[in-house]
Amino acid sequence: MYDVDKIRADFPILAREVNGRPLTYLDNGASAQKPQVVIDAVSRAYSHEYANVHRGLHYLSNLATDKYEAVRGTVARFLGAPSEDEIVFNSGTTEGINLVAYGWAMPRMEPGDEIVLSVMEHHANIVPWHFLRERQGVVLKWVDTGPDGSLDPQAVIDAIGPKTKLVAVTHVSNVLGTVVDVKAITQGAHAKGVPVLVDGSQSAVHLPVDVSDIGCDFYAITGHKLYGPSGSGAIYIKSARMAEMRPFLGGGDMIKEVSKDAVIYNDPPMKFEAGTPGIVQIIGMGVALDYMMDLGMENIAAHEAGLRDYAQDRFAGLNWLQVQGHAPGKAAIFSFTLEGAAHAHDISTILDKKGVAVRAGHHCAGPLMDHLGVTATCRASFGLYNTRAEVDVLVEALELAHELFA
Ligand code: PMP
Repeated sequence: MYDVDKIRADFPILAREVNGRPLTYLDNGASAQKPQVVIDAVSRAYSHEYANVHRGLHYLSNLATDKYEAVRGTVARFLGAPSEDEIVFNSGTTEGINLVAYGWAMPRMEPGDEIVLSVMEHHANIVPWHFLRERQGVVLKWVDTGPDGSLDPQAVIDAIGPKTKLVAVTHVSNVLGTVVDVKAITQGAHAKGVPVLVDGSQSAVHLPVDVSDIGCDFYAITGHKLYGPSGSGAIYIKSARMAEMRPFLGGGDMIKEVSKDAVIYNDPPMKFEAGTPGIVQIIGMGVALDYMMDLGMENIAAHEAGLRDYAQDRFAGLNWLQVQGHAPGKAAIFSFTLEGAAHAHDISTILDKKGVAVRAGHHCAGPLMDHLGVTATCRASFGLYNTRAEVDVLVEALELAHELFA
């Protein structure tokens, strides 16, 4: 049984008040709160188990290395990756995608080569590809979403031409909550000989993910949205792709030997992890992933689907609320504007007075905002600890905002 009250008790921050009201935290899409087990693991690592990893032969260094390296297996399990050697640690999705852009894409793309993207990508899955456009004459091909915010996998596959070298798509939209059929896209792209990168920032937190089943080449996740520390993340890279990559960052840890005239790189995945990593952050991320796996990703997904359905029912009664995106099976992420043209920031300020935390702005998704014809929206994004009662608090606060701006 999914006991949300018990789960909420694991997250100390949820007990606090904001502006004299109980906190209603609906900004999980930006970053999720941390359970006590993660806070304790971070504190324990710094208090009792801290040293640099991979370097020393002393007790603490070995202990820290063991704890840190064990997370590779945890991530592999969490993502269904065949081998932990296909997991590269990093600071988050942004770094993961940049690694692919610099390490895999840049060396193999010529002027006129194409990258296919959906219009609902986050800037983290856009700007690294703009670098290739600016610097190497690579062409970005955009695939639009349908009127309900869904992405037709066939439209993505049809956009792949003889010059396409990569498809880069999100699994779940951080703005609309749309779940993309990345398996169908991967099958279609692979049939045309094109690798696929999936931005898993918003999906891994809401859905069970199995990269072996999806079949994709790259799958990036970010620890702070997965109830883990900020500055932690990982990317799954299929071993065949990893073998094609050159290192992105150079420095300690990613080498075996360095002389005045030569450098011998470490074996993958360490070849792609230069310098002292986020040791404690990664250890904390491992604990967070275990926490989620203990709850069960299927159970989390079912709980959040219930919240989505309830929120959709409640929103349906508010004819002055324009919710963007109604793709079937979407995640519990809602972007909306209010009739009367109150700015998204004004709405979020009123919600904040009621203790409700949402995000307002362009959500790092400029092309999608253009496509939708809006400059900004408010976004309520739910997580594993949210409740129906919190949907009611949100609706009450929205009603107040509507009254004030009507
Ligand atoms: N992609 C998506 C879909 C996201 O929502 C985010 C975070 N908002 C990112 C990428 C970037 O993640 P990070 O900032 O943790 O690198």
